[in-house]
Amino acid sequence: MSQPTTSVVIAGAGPVGCLMALYLAQRDIDVLLLEKEAQLPVDLRASTFHPPSLEMIAELGFGVIEAMLAKGLVADRYQYRDRRSGEVASFDMSLIADSTRFPFRLQLEQYEFTRLVVDRLAQLPSASVRFGCEVTGFEQDDDHVAVQLDTAAGGETVWADFLVSTEGARSRIRKLANIDYLGFTYNEKFLVVSTDFPFEDVFEDLAWVNYVSDPEEWCVILRTEKLWRVLFPTTPETAEDEARLLSDAFIQERLHHLWDKEGDYHIGHRTLYNVNQRVAETYFKGRVLLAGDACHINNPLGGMGMNGGLHDGNNLAAKLVRIIRDGAPHLAEFEHYNRQRRDLAVRFVQEHTIANKKLMEARDMATQQARQQMLMETAADPVKAKAFLLERAMINCVRDSEALA
Ligand SMILES: Cc1cc2nc3c(=O)[nH]c(=O)nc-3n(C[C@H](O)[C@H](O)[C@H](O)COP(=O)(O)OP(=O)(O)OC[C@H]3O[C@@H](n4cnc5c(N)ncnc54)[C@H](O)[C@@H]3O)c2cc1C
Repeated sequence: MSQPTTSVVIAGAGPVGCLMALYLAQRDIDVLLLEKEAQLPVDLRASTFHPPSLEMIAELGFGVIEAMLAKGLVADRYQYRDRRSGEVASFDMSLIADSTRFPFRLQLEQYEFTRLVVDRLAQLPSASVRFGCEVTGFEQDDDHVAVQLDTAAGGETVWADFLVSTEGARSRIRKLANIDYLGFTYNEKFLVVSTDFPFEDVFEDLAWVNYVSDPEEWCVILRTEKLWRVLFPTTPETAEDEARLLSDAFIQERLHHLWDKEGDYHIGHRTLYNVNQRVAETYFKGRVLLAGDACHINNPLGGMGMNGGLHDGNNLAAKLVRIIRDGAPHLAEFEHYNRQRRDLAVRFVQEHTIANKKLMEARDMATQQARQQMLMETAADPVKAKAFLLERAMINCVRDSEALA
């Protein structure tokens, strides 16, 4: 193979690829970040940054965290609301102030983070970012990876020491590497809509993040820095009827069920998406690695998808620095990455998110009451509430994964 063009090629400028690129470039490691779209995607997706992610972003420097804090909304408490009984279990995140510099969830659209990072990368000589550049294949030997690209000017090959796929759940590199994506897809879809309606004026003492149980239909009500966003489940029977689920009539009915205001809601965005629980059978093959949704995906209850991906990216970037700068053996480092991050995805994230979904959707009254009772008791007891928050804020899981030899 030819001489490497760059040390690390990262395929996909989502939050995970962006974090990795900045981490490496900041340490003077040559990195090429490739994005198939002509510009950064602006999707209605992750909007919650948990404390460990904020700490990792703060470590990146370049004023990224300061800009995020200035733009985002600080959610220093969140609530589990039972609409039947009117009970509210409110979790105060200041209870974990001795465990993190950021005892809150930051509500900010993920594309605001990627924009900030790409701006910074433009100032760093060791980073290159190319848009409209899709990775279509690769070949690797013991020393290098040849990465094939499709660009507006035609096909091209670049050589790298390592190739990282942060291409999201449909990762082409994962498929080409014959790595299975084990797990399942739920039969039903989730509907997310945004609106400028001020829910805080009609629901008393509403937090910025609320999980709402209801005998007929549960939902999640989140405030982003821009709008309120409501996530509704839909039924497996209607999953194929996308036109109906995305219609004004259906969405207005769902929103009026939540709060029966006069007249129509103004609807900002609407997205219908599949819900998966999957983990790749391995996070690397030779010199080719996976991070973020490319290697794990879960339902969004608890906001662990992007956050878990950022934690992968931070862990893997640190290992790449040890390999490239300090000469650490790559296979041992990658096996360590696999043990730390894959085991955790299976044990922690998958378990928690599957359990969160089961609890939210339970329809029988006894289960709903027991769930709300457990949450009320936990929120009212500072010791239990702190333990609950350390778990849900992903602080425990990052500590556990870092401690794994
Ligand atoms: C409605 C919704 C709400 C969510 N809410 C949350 C939340 O609150 N908290 C949370 O933690 N997670 C949440 N998630 C999950 C979160 O959005 C994802 O986990 C996150 O986007 C994964 O980031 P990523 O960088 O791995 O991949 P992506 O964000 O999917 O980025 C992949 C990038 O790679 C590019 N690409 C793909 N293939 C190629 C290729 N071959 N060559 C070059 N470029 C390529 C794509 O265009 C894209 O820009 C939510 C998801 C949804 C759908």
